Amino acid sequence: MDSTHYNPRPCLTKDCEQPALTGAEKCWDHLTDQKGFVDGLNPAQLADTWLVGIDASGRDWSGANLENARLSGANLSGTNLSGSTCTRCFLDGANLTGSNFSGAEMEFAVLGQADMSNADFSNANMIRSNLVGTKGHGTNLDGAKLYYSRPGCADFTGATFRGAEITRTIFRRAILRDTDMTGAEGQANFDRADMEGVKQ
Ligand SMILES: [Zn+2]
Repeated sequence: MDSTHYNPRPCLTKDCEQPALTGAEKCWDHLTDQKGFVDGLNPAQLADTWLVGIDASGRDWSGANLENARLSGANLSGTNLSGSTCTRCFLDGANLTGSNFSGAEMEFAVLGQADMSNADFSNANMIRSNLVGTKGHGTNLDGAKLYYSRPGCADFTGATFRGAEITRTIFRRAILRDTDMTGAEGQANFDRADMEGVKQ
């Protein structure tokens, strides 16, 4: 039985306490052929997988299924995940700079402390997602569904939320300097947020 998000097996390396990646016997750090491992992944069949820390930067994973997958700390810089399913996916601490999540299904996804600067999340469904402490300089969130998402303490300097759905979005203590919220709909919580230069 493969190691999964629900059934993690320990990495075979002595004294390593990380779970093994799904489809491998070792964790990312102890994998000898990291590139070969990522080459062998079928993006359409990655639901429930344990892929913590992997480097899939620059890959075309459009339409991928990452439902319930765990990719904490992964490098997805420049990765194309447009139209993917990332419901309940763990992307906390991940490098998402310049990635493309446009139109992705991301309800309940965890993106806390991730860096999504200059990424495209336009029209993504991010309802109830966790964005606590996320960095998103210049991120495109136009038309994103952010109902009840939690970008508390996030830094979205220069991001765009044009036409986004922000009912009950909790921007508590977030940095929203120079963001474009033109046409954003709904009553968000901007408690102690930095709203300097926000376009509404
Ligand atoms: Zn290990």
